[in-house]
Amino acid sequence: MIDNYLKKNNFLELSPKAVFFDMDGVLFDSMPNHSLAWVKAMNESGLPFTREEAYLSEGQPGTDTVNHVFSKTHGRESTQEERTAIYTLKGNYFDKMSEPQPMPYSLEILKKLKERGYQLFVVTGSGHPTLIRKIQTYFPEIFESENIITAFDVKRGKPHPDPYLKALNKAGIEPWEAVVVENAPLGVKSSSTAKIYTIGVNTGPIDKNILSENGADIVLDSVQELYEKWDTLGF
Ligand code: CA
Repeated sequence: MIDNYLKKNNFLELSPKAVFFDMDGVLFDSMPNHSLAWVKAMNESGLPFTREEAYLSEGQPGTDTVNHVFSKTHGRESTQEERTAIYTLKGNYFDKMSEPQPMPYSLEILKKLKERGYQLFVVTGSGHPTLIRKIQTYFPEIFESENIITAFDVKRGKPHPDPYLKALNKAGIEPWEAVVVENAPLGVKSSSTAKIYTIGVNTGPIDKNILSENGADIVLDSVQELYEKWDTLGF
């Protein structure tokens, strides 16, 4: 898998100094809530949308998701006001649900990597205001505040490579010196376009081949599997 990555990107070696983690569906088991909130907000706004579509569009900025479905339904782009209103409605539904818990084994893998001296980053498309507090509460002393890249830090979100390029820049490293852990098709597209070795963890209901097709270099079934197999991955 690493050989294919090196060949594909024309790199000589992979020697990770940092690991970049996506948040929803990787660090937190939040996708069931997100997908349900999306379906409610979209359908209430007259836009057909299923939970599977929520998983397939995961990772990109929420207003982009609204705009895409809006254009398909109404044959014109949404105005900024229209898409913000629907994204806000979705956020309100999400906030009313029970607070998502950390993904099983997420703290364990973070501690293991921290001990080994990796720089650790969160790279998320989320613009949730209580985000940083939540990360610091559930994963204390793991991430420096400036190592949390959110929707507010980049103009273009996933599937564009920008969020991961930003993380590389902040870490002061090259693409072959990082590894990404992502769960969504648009997320792995973003990191693989940034030429970073990408581990897909398929924590949702979609077919795991979709992650490989979108650029994941290896696909595992869970964060637990990532924790257990880390030492066999060849870094
Ligand atoms: Ca995700």
